[in-house]
Amino acid sequence: SYRCRSAFKLIEIDDKYHILKPGHVVLDCGAAPGSWSQVAVRRVNALGDDSEALMGRVIGVDLQHMNTVPGAVILKECDVTADSTQQKISSVLGKTKVNVFLSDMAPNATGIKSMDHEIIMQLCYVALTFAIRVMARQATFVCKLWQGPEQRRFEAILEQYFEQVKIIKPRASRSDSAEVFLLAKNFTPPTPKK
Ligand code: SAM
Repeated sequence: SYRCRSAFKLIEIDDKYHILKPGHVVLDCGAAPGSWSQVAVRRVNALGDDSEALMGRVIGVDLQHMNTVPGAVILKECDVTADSTQQKISSVLGKTKVNVFLSDMAPNATGIKSMDHEIIMQLCYVALTFAIRVMARQATFVCKLWQGPEQRRFEAILEQYFEQVKIIKPRASRSDSAEVFLLAKNFTPPTPKK
């Protein structure tokens, strides 16, 4: 069983868009208590339950304490926006690149809509900047945000790096009216500057 209801948001997104495949390397940012990582472990075959299929990997990272998730590497009490965390993640990855970058990260909401929007968008930008460095060609990027004026600009930036960008409002998140997920598919890495 899943550690929290959020699991059903990722299940809904993946059942519709098929982003998680056996063999994929997944980075799950804002992973606590761990339900997205649980879903990802199964769907990328990180425990090798399907002996015929490729085995994937899942790395889950969160600011908060987190219990281990079988099949995943968990970096708890780590801020994804910190250089030290990004270095830890890179060293866990080694030479492998991320196929599916997930962010369900959310700040503690203040209740002031415009402020919460700005704070979560900052997280989205930092996540994307890091993602661009660690994602494989053709990777998928999914991130949660609370809707507001900065969303359109963020989508435009995603469109520079990805072939397709979709806005998803899972049925499982209907109770949180401002929440949407952006799904960006088919990443093209930027050409390195000389
Ligand atoms: N997807 C998770 C699941 O299914 O179990 C639920 C994630 S919860 C909605 C959002 C999480 O984002 C919180 O646990 C919070 O600690 C984390 N978070 C917020 N800012 C973060 C940051 N800068 N670095 C890492 N995690 C962060």
